[in-house]
Amino acid sequence: MNVEEVLAKLVSFPVLGGESNLSILHWIKEYLESHGVQVHLVPNEEGNKASLHCRIGPAVDGGVILSGHMDVVPVEGQDWTTDPFTLTDKGDGRLYGRGSCDMKGFLACCLATLPEMVKADLKKPMYFAFTYDEEVGCLAAPELANTIRHHYKETPKYALIGEPSLMEPIIGQKGIYILETYVNGSAGHSSRIKQEVSAIHEAMRLILWLEKKMDSLIDEGRLDERFHPPHSSIHIGLVNGGIAPNVIADKAYFYWDLRTIPMDDIQGIVDEFEAHCRQRESALQDIYPEFSIKTIENHPPVPHLDTKADDDVVELIKRISGNSKWDTVSYAAEAGQFANEGFQSAICGPGSIAQAHRADEFIAKDQLAKGVEMLQRLIKELSSNQFV
Ligand SMILES: [Zn+2]
Repeated sequence: MNVEEVLAKLVSFPVLGGESNLSILHWIKEYLESHGVQVHLVPNEEGNKASLHCRIGPAVDGGVILSGHMDVVPVEGQDWTTDPFTLTDKGDGRLYGRGSCDMKGFLACCLATLPEMVKADLKKPMYFAFTYDEEVGCLAAPELANTIRHHYKETPKYALIGEPSLMEPIIGQKGIYILETYVNGSAGHSSRIKQEVSAIHEAMRLILWLEKKMDSLIDEGRLDERFHPPHSSIHIGLVNGGIAPNVIADKAYFYWDLRTIPMDDIQGIVDEFEAHCRQRESALQDIYPEFSIKTIENHPPVPHLDTKADDDVVELIKRISGNSKWDTVSYAAEAGQFANEGFQSAICGPGSIAQAHRADEFIAKDQLAKGVEMLQRLIKELSSNQFV
């Protein structure tokens, strides 16, 4: 199968983040096994999802992990002009379909190049590491990366995460944490605003506290110019509370996200916020003893990626991608999670993130071809005795 045929097959599995991925998983597993590759699964507790990993080449240290996710985002409410789960060639040099770019395009490059990998005289191994539930918070990668580190006797050195980057090496990624804060105040007639505790008024003060926290990080000069914007951001994206203009709200809540540069401590900021909330509770419980503020996780934190521009993995990806520049991103990806297991990690893959997650998602055919070329160059590198 050529890369477009593999991509068409992968796109035909409508596996969304959060849903069972067994259909696409088993197709990939059988494809790999039909090329003589031994496949290992890392299932979730319920047994309705699994990640997959395998090695191609010799069991020696210093290999390269190729990482990607099998799930995609929903198409609901989007105005598609083609069937999102049928890869469509409109004759304009692009292939349309959900996941064509993010990131079944890269998986297709890996699978289409597999016969060449198997045939090659690899001196260092390559690994596939394919996850589920990336699109709902990079949930499966920590366990998969950890499993790979312990499953094999040898230790891979590099992880290449093939998220769409227009084949540009991406060496940094902000840490991301999404939280929900619930404020429990007391209801009453609006005229009694000083005698009750409005959950809305207090939620607003907390929101302003968070915004001030972000501003103070900037004022302290906590900037990392590799990122755009160069500071950690704190953003409130949803607020809800109250029932009528003349009723003091007893309930209010808001959802917020933190995107931190590597020098800032995501948990430290949350701890500081929590300490502030405890102070507000004890201050306001004088008015209303049941007053409380509770913050819960909306998604587990996704760690930042802080690969240095002169790390070996960056040189490697520059060579095989043919791209000498590097960049950073502010979206969530699994690279930081592979880096946490000790693999030198970077992102580089075909397609543009600008096409991801939207109606009429597509991958340009020439990007797909470049993805295949990158892996062919990697095969050549790994077949050389000089590879380190
Ligand atoms: Zn993705």
